[in-house]
Amino acid sequence: MLNAVVPVPRRATGVEDALKGKVICGECGSRYERILDNRVGEKWRCKNPECSTTVKITDALLTEQVTDLMNYAYRKRQQSST
Ligand SMILES: [Zn+2]
Repeated sequence: MLNAVVPVPRRATGVEDALKGKVICGECGSRYERILDNRVGEKWRCKNPECSTTVKITDALLTEQVTDLMNYAYRKRQQSST
């Protein structure tokens, strides 16, 4: 039996791929970069050194919110096309 906890190598998630370079800072409009923090999980930080806004959001939560947003946009489009 396996007793040791084997660290699973973190592969790029779908979210990361989909959102890389697309997450924009609400403060200054610069791009966010994704940082992996072993303690708090995923973080996004503004690339603009004068701004450096940091958002702590997990991939799971980010996916959820993006999915919600896309569903919302989809429903909007459905409504306006009928
Ligand atoms: Zn910024």
